[in-house]
Amino acid sequence: MKHIGAHVSTSGGVENAPVNAAAIQANAFALFTKNQRQWFSAPLSEKSIASFKKKTEEIHVDPAYILPHDSYLINLGHPETEGLEKSRAAFLDEMQRCEQLGLTLLNFHPGSHLKKISVDDCLARIAESINITLDKTKGVCAVIENTAGQGSNVGNRFEEIAKIISMVDDKSRVGVCIDTCHTFAAGYDLRTAEACESTFAELDKVVGLSYLRAMHINDSMKPLGSKVDRHNSIGKGEIGIECFKWIMQQDMFNDIPLILETPDESIWAEEIALLRGFEAEK
Ligand SMILES: [Zn+2]
Ligand SMILES: [Zn+2]
Repeated sequence: MKHIGAHVSTSGGVENAPVNAAAIQANAFALFTKNQRQWFSAPLSEKSIASFKKKTEEIHVDPAYILPHDSYLINLGHPETEGLEKSRAAFLDEMQRCEQLGLTLLNFHPGSHLKKISVDDCLARIAESINITLDKTKGVCAVIENTAGQGSNVGNRFEEIAKIISMVDDKSRVGVCIDTCHTFAAGYDLRTAEACESTFAELDKVVGLSYLRAMHINDSMKPLGSKVDRHNSIGKGEIGIECFKWIMQQDMFNDIPLILETPDESIWAEEIALLRGFEAEK
């Protein structure tokens, strides 16, 4: 059985994430472990940590299928020293929060060159940021998300992700999260089973499927290659339903969290049921 969930709310505390996941019949989930729009948040309390672990156990979700996402402010490839150091400190805090919660993955957007350094310089900074953070922590994998390539964001081409990974010292603690909306917006077609096969064959060739640690399951409001990151509900966007049916019937996605970040959270339970239906058809 695949592990499907959504990026659920932690309003009122991280311990509410498993409760919100259970309410939509999810057996995986994503969350922010701190306010994603602020640099600093209070440390997690012992009580909150214990409650998170207990509630996660109660809903029978293994921590391997929980995918924390870091703050949107962090730019691990920042061109300037001050921004880079601030980002690295915040990323370390994010990874330490994962350690405290007993989680093994940390999903993040690679970074942006802000038109001040080259793409290669930016990729090297990101890899160095990952190395620094992995050195100071244990047991958490840095999961690089592919981007739509909006603005000066790097990581929209699989080659760029492969370059970052090649510069990470501990290959056992670096991985990739493929977001279907970002992939499509970046120019990789996913509209038919054949297109999906060739896109994932390309990912395997360039990065290696062994690095695939998570998926974000989103349709796209914008067309192929638009480089604009706008998620849509499953089957209601430019990608269309075939892609999601295909994903649900491939064994390569069995042991990783499959996370909805679709815009209408009132239909997450329905979307999960729809995906489950595709899985059952296999
Ligand atoms: Zn995503
Ligand atoms: Zn996105």
